Amino acid sequence: MSEGLLLVISGPSGAGKGTLCRALCQRCPQISLSVSATTRPPRSGEVHGREYFFLSRDDFEERVKAGGFLEWATYLGNYYGTPREPVQKMLAQGRDVVLEIDVQGGLQVRKSYPSAVLIFILPPDWQTLKQRLLGRGTEDELAVEERLGVALGELDVITQYDYLVINDNLSTAVDTVACIITAEKCRTVRNKLPADWKNP
Ligand code: 5GP
Repeated sequence: MSEGLLLVISGPSGAGKGTLCRALCQRCPQISLSVSATTRPPRSGEVHGREYFFLSRDDFEERVKAGGFLEWATYLGNYYGTPREPVQKMLAQGRDVVLEIDVQGGLQVRKSYPSAVLIFILPPDWQTLKQRLLGRGTEDELAVEERLGVALGELDVITQYDYLVINDNLSTAVDTVACIITAEKCRTVRNKLPADWKNP
C-alpha cells in the first residue's frame, strides 16, 4: 500500500481555511484532518480533541522536548503544533492527511516531508479578509488588527508554497483543492509501474 498524501493548507486567519478543510474532508472521505494542539484558550463552542487539543504551556513544552510534534510554532503569543504520531499512523495506513497550519509550520513540514504538498489560501482581496475576520466575531478589534498584521507577513512566503487558491467561492475552492490532490497523485514520482508492465 502506498503512503498517503500529506497536504498543508495555510493562509491568513480569515481566509476560510477551516471551512474549506472541513468541506474537503466531507467531499473526499480518504482525507483526514489533523487535530492540532494549542495553548490558546478555547473559543466558545470549541471542544477539546475536536477543534484543538487545548494544553497548558508546560504540557506543550514537555511535548516539544519529547519530539511529540511534527512541527510547531508560536502565533500571537500562543503555541500551536501538529501531534506527530497520529499523522504518521494515518499516512502509513495510506490515508491522506490535511494540516491546517500557519506558514512557519508549513515551511518546517516542507523540510521534514519534501513530498508534502503546500497550498496557500487567500480571500479575493484585503477588504474581504478584514470583513470576514470582523464578521466572525471571534476576536475583538485589536486581535483582528494583530491577525491582519500577521497576514501581511505571511504573504512573503507564498512563492515557497506549491499552489495558490483564491477562496472567493467555497465550493469552487474545494473543487480546485480536490483537483490538485488528484493531479498530485498522478505524479510519476508517486507511482510505481505495475510489475506486468516491466515484463509483458
Ligand atoms: P486560530 O487561533 O485562529 O485557531 O489559529 C491561528 C493560526 O494558527 C492559524 O493560522 C492556524 O492555521 C494556525 N495553526 C493552527 N494549528 C496549527 C499547528 O498545529 N501548527 C501551526 N504551525 N499553526 C497552526
